[in-house]
Amino acid sequence: MIGGMAELPPRVRLVIFDLDGVIYRGSDPVPGSPELVAWLHATGTAVRFATNNSMVTRAGYVERLGAMGIPTTVEEIVTSTSATVEHLRRHAPEVRSVLAIGADGMREELTTAGLDVVMADAVEPPTHPGGPLLRRFDAVVVGLDPLVDYARLAIAMSAVAGGAQLVATNADTRYPTPAGFLPGAGSIVAALATATGVTPEVIGKPAPAMFRAITEASGIPAAECVVVGDNPDADVVGAHRAGCAAILVLTGVADAALAAGLRGERVPEAVAAGPAEVRVLLEPRLS
Ligand SMILES: [Mg+2]
Repeated sequence: MIGGMAELPPRVRLVIFDLDGVIYRGSDPVPGSPELVAWLHATGTAVRFATNNSMVTRAGYVERLGAMGIPTTVEEIVTSTSATVEHLRRHAPEVRSVLAIGADGMREELTTAGLDVVMADAVEPPTHPGGPLLRRFDAVVVGLDPLVDYARLAIAMSAVAGGAQLVATNADTRYPTPAGFLPGAGSIVAALATATGVTPEVIGKPAPAMFRAITEASGIPAAECVVVGDNPDADVVGAHRAGCAAILVLTGVADAALAAGLRGERVPEAVAAGPAEVRVLLEPRLS
């Protein structure tokens, strides 16, 4: 344990796991993570899995986790797209029509939620480039679109000019691959923010909206929630901004030396070497 950390809450009813670097690495589960999740399920603790990925549906993650020996449900999975839907439902119920930049999984998730969704490449372009669109949208929702091009950005810009709110599923600058990095959704969001001069509303961590959407939907107060993540910048900061405590696990991007050097809102309430230590920390706190 590191000195100076705040305490974990005395009572924990909701545990939110980050996925990559916590539950799995690539296609392999982190050793002990299936057992940790099974134990939490058996205790009746509410469990959620939260990822900034906007491209895969929640059902896709249920399948992926199931293949690793972690049975879960769509209700337990939160992507930055599903968190965006939940956020809009609670805080911007006037948003019905959405112009979307993103992948197929994002379109599917937004459509399933009952929103009137048109992808940017399916919008009829304005009569004159840069002019008003032939229809109005309540919001432009931006996720990672591997096929984004100038035409899609131009359409989205016109929609914002026409009064649409600009909503970013996440602002991750980079998207990790086994071989290196690709531009993340945040790079596309930055292009639109620059072009429109509009500050986007960001949902994914470290913005607080994603974890807030989870606590609000679960009905469990943030003070009884713990986020378990491997990334101080995204998971720990996001937890704190949403009023939740955080356990930093050292199975992903952070090691003990990095954890010891953290300051301010990046300092977690506890550090755990891996899933077994997470259980030791949580066991006395479950009701
Ligand atoms: Mg992670």
